[in-house]
Amino acid sequence: VRAFSTNYPVLQQAASAAATEAKVATTKNYINGEFVESSTDRWIELRNPATQELVTMVPETTREELDAATSSAQHAFKEWSQTSVLSRQRIMLDLQYLIRKNQDRIAENIVLEQGKTLIDAKGDVFRGLQVVEQACSLTSMLMGEKLTVAKDMETYTFREPLGVTAGICPFNFPAMIPLWMFPLALATGNTMVLKPSERDPGASMMLAQLAAEAGVPKGVLNIVHGSIDTVNYICDEPRIKAISFVGSDHAGKHIYDRGGANGKRVQANLGAKNHGVILPDASKQSTLNALAGAAFGAAGQRCMALSTAIFVGEAQDWIPELVDRAKALKVSYGMEPDTDVGPLITVQAKERVERLIQSGVDQGAKLLLDGRGIKPKGYENGNFVGPTIISDVMTNMDCYKEEIFGPVLVCLKAETLDDAIEIINANPYGNGTAVFTNSGPNARKFQQEIDVGQVGINVPIPVPVPPFSFTGSRGSILGDLNFYGKSGVQFYTKLKTVTSLWKESDADHTRSSVSMPTMH
Ligand code: NAD
Repeated sequence: VRAFSTNYPVLQQAASAAATEAKVATTKNYINGEFVESSTDRWIELRNPATQELVTMVPETTREELDAATSSAQHAFKEWSQTSVLSRQRIMLDLQYLIRKNQDRIAENIVLEQGKTLIDAKGDVFRGLQVVEQACSLTSMLMGEKLTVAKDMETYTFREPLGVTAGICPFNFPAMIPLWMFPLALATGNTMVLKPSERDPGASMMLAQLAAEAGVPKGVLNIVHGSIDTVNYICDEPRIKAISFVGSDHAGKHIYDRGGANGKRVQANLGAKNHGVILPDASKQSTLNALAGAAFGAAGQRCMALSTAIFVGEAQDWIPELVDRAKALKVSYGMEPDTDVGPLITVQAKERVERLIQSGVDQGAKLLLDGRGIKPKGYENGNFVGPTIISDVMTNMDCYKEEIFGPVLVCLKAETLDDAIEIINANPYGNGTAVFTNSGPNARKFQQEIDVGQVGINVPIPVPVPPFSFTGSRGSILGDLNFYGKSGVQFYTKLKTVTSLWKESDADHTRSSVSMPTMH
């Protein structure tokens, strides 16, 4: 598998010295419909997380290039916002077809740059594709409202696009999260400057190419790269009206504050700590399978990973069987057949996860399965941590308090469902949670009493499909409007309300009225 960036025409030959030496192509900026080499002298190395091989060099896009991307988006907005929603939907229909056709190619690039398994990478593309499908049928969600408020007088609303919007993406879903952002932004009439994660921008580049093939005009979608400087530019640039962000708490709080202080609309999905509650009346086999899949799939690098299990009462006896299941998972490169768990994104991420495992041991928890030090054959240099299970975890331990974002399941024990609910509601995060039970009343009690925005009942990773929205809550989100679904459409549009008066005759106008119009 080669880096996708090798498919682009190199418009300038001045790639960074390291990229030239390693014979890899640089990742380009995508500005005004052209894939262009950055003139920066600051490059970020992107290495295959399973091998450490250099895949591409990602530019820290320069200030001039960021300005060029914003200018092209602003210029394109004039015409794009005037096209009919039907014609924008038609382009989205072509885009969804092209993504389906290229799904495998995009997924292979995700394995190369991000490390997840091929089948999981296909799921990454597919869950994003579902939002493109929503963007193909937007008309009813864009409809306004109308009321006759007085004789001859009507009030009605329109949903209008905001202008230039921006997207800032995390590394863990290189296709799905950009697809949460630009298809709805564009279909509602906005233009976008998108910044994929500097760790794995390849999927976004492929999607930009497909968008162009589908008929998205020049300048409507632009892609820039980098990290903090690019993000700060987006927060400060007055021509950018709204920011969609998904990523860690640290970056998200900064972007929400700085973007908000500059008058922008910001939606920010942040970190998580998702709990699964296992009641003794659950179906044992399917529950254990669900737990292993949701804790260790994607090497635990999902914001909806079920990283914390609370075993209630006799269900505590199931933990040894869960350990057996976790041991059976194959850890290797994502392109190797039957791989269940791939590498972590970077060496630093691996070291951080290992440190958090050790902190659990040091603070008195029991390490039932230790995935540290694993070296899959042929991939000895990769950032691998195998499935790890820590039991007897208490809520004051670091491995409970911090989002681990690795293949580590921390297990707590509770006497009753009430105790489990109390633990979850006391946790600052509120992204997702799940209960495993065969009792309707228990499931219903959990659903009603749990203070978490996305609840699974015998569903370990309850990420809603569009037209529902991704409704993480509490510490897992900043901003009021969620990604995709109705809420996503509302985020990318603003309401305009018109009050009109069409009188049949001018005869009753004898005197000016200066009192407050009451319209009765
Ligand atoms: P990250 O915050 O490190 O990076 C996200 C984006 O922010 C990147 O584009 C990066 O360039 C930028 N960034 C990073 N540090 C920054 C800083 N100091 N200042 C300004 N910008 C900065 O996140 P990540 O490691 O790529 O992604 C993993 C995190 O994302 C996890 O915490 C995970 O839970 C979260 N996530 C949340 C959701 C959700 O919907 N709640 C979905 C996916 C991922």
